[in-house]
Amino acid sequence: MSLARAHVLVGVDDEARLAGVEEVILALRAAIADLGLEGEVQVVETGSLGISGHGVVLAVQPDGVYYAGVTPADARPIAEEHLLKGRPVARLRLPTMAPVARPADVLGRQTRVVLSNCGAINPERIEEYIATGGYEALGRAVTVLSPDDVLDLVKRSGLRGRGGAGFPTGIKWSAVRTASDRERYVVCNADEGEPGTFKDRLILEGDPHRLLEAMAIAGYAVGAHVGIIYVRGEYRLSIARLERAIADAEALGVLGERVFDTDFSFRVEVRPGAGAYVCGEETALLESLEGKRGWPRIRPPYPVTYGLWGKPTVVNNVETLANVPDIIRRGPAWYRTLGTPGCPGTKVYTILGNVCYPGLVEVEMGTTLRTLIYELGGGLLPGRTLHGVLIGGAAGAFLPPRELDVRLDFDALAERAAALGSGAVLVLDESACMVDMLASVLRFFRHESCGQCAPCRSGTDVLVRLISSLQAGTADGGTLDQMVRIVDAMRAASLCPLGQSVALPVRSALVGFREEFDAHLTSATCPRCQATVHARGSH
Ligand code: SF4
Repeated sequence: MSLARAHVLVGVDDEARLAGVEEVILALRAAIADLGLEGEVQVVETGSLGISGHGVVLAVQPDGVYYAGVTPADARPIAEEHLLKGRPVARLRLPTMAPVARPADVLGRQTRVVLSNCGAINPERIEEYIATGGYEALGRAVTVLSPDDVLDLVKRSGLRGRGGAGFPTGIKWSAVRTASDRERYVVCNADEGEPGTFKDRLILEGDPHRLLEAMAIAGYAVGAHVGIIYVRGEYRLSIARLERAIADAEALGVLGERVFDTDFSFRVEVRPGAGAYVCGEETALLESLEGKRGWPRIRPPYPVTYGLWGKPTVVNNVETLANVPDIIRRGPAWYRTLGTPGCPGTKVYTILGNVCYPGLVEVEMGTTLRTLIYELGGGLLPGRTLHGVLIGGAAGAFLPPRELDVRLDFDALAERAAALGSGAVLVLDESACMVDMLASVLRFFRHESCGQCAPCRSGTDVLVRLISSLQAGTADGGTLDQMVRIVDAMRAASLCPLGQSVALPVRSALVGFREEFDAHLTSATCPRCQATVHARGSH
């Protein structure tokens, strides 16, 4: 960044583009030029500022003032009142501009490792990434450390995969490193398909070089020379920024042939997916990369021995990899100061639903749901009360308010038959009917089941029919038990995690919100959803 007196950080992500951020930036630059502030104020196009659902968001630094819902017409008042006269534009906060969003002190409660550059640097300028310490870890790895040293650092950090299962990353890398086949690959799973989940997109849009650096470090550690990013096809801005970042990194010699002038070469390719949720499953993803239908493979063998083109392959999620540069640069002891003993580090969440400040946050592992919702999410919308939370995305668990103080890490949630999953935290107020919520989840699974194995193909179909009968008020007394038997059979017999994980939302909803399901069976009305009343009236 320049030595300007003030910086206007404008979040340029897909949501902001749809809200017309380009026009806002043009208007801001014109207003700043018109007021003769060009030498003093710099407009920086950065990644997401972590605030969603409020259109164009910008921050004026060092003042720490956030504006949301900004339109081109707001540019001149912001430039004149705030940037020229030093008075934040209070009158623009309502009603055309949403309240000045997430207060600086809320951002300050986060522990940002993975997101440290998101919303702070221009992701399209490699020099800004380097200025924050970027590519230092890769440089040290390839010039000072051996591949075994790098593996050792990652193992000692205790990093666990953030894609959902929480498998230790160092062990996965070691299995590829010790495979007998010399042709190996690093694949980044950026096929983010869970409803309500967009953390990987915002990492890719906000800090693409971090991922490239991490993949090159992984390649060096395991002995791979090709990395492939399998990214959701709709993530056009992510793809564009990744491709630009690859070109810039190769031009600087930190990627491609002879990285940092050493004998290590590492090339990265970007491959857009075609939109199938099941391709987020690692073996379906590999099939898709090979040009085949995205059907999960039977495991074992696992990708670490039989991956892309049958070769040993590291498959890691975006967030997992994004931790690696800091682990190498700052060391495993530092990393273990964050989080819990069994789950060191941080976790990125997307907070959604009926909260004041939906968006993207990063906190230490072990942070409670209560902190996430009431401190970082700003609490429920005025006048609303908490009814429940769906944590972990569609394949996650419904938790009632009594679970607010549960520590969020892999182990603590597993004890409660829940999972961190995709990191989505959907907050539901008293207007939500859990039968309807579960019906949405089950319809999603039926739609996304690839149909390869019968338990999932038929199970999701029957589950949708059963939940539909509950919604319509036509279910019989055995319906809920039948649903449990089906998801248990799916968990035991389905080929891949998609079919296996349906048990989580179904069982958790029935345990945490049983009275709502019973109401659909026994009452004339559900206390929450009026649809049942109408349906019952017609029977
Ligand atoms: Fe396909 Fe479902 Fe079987 Fe997975 S569990 S292979 S998604 S049918």
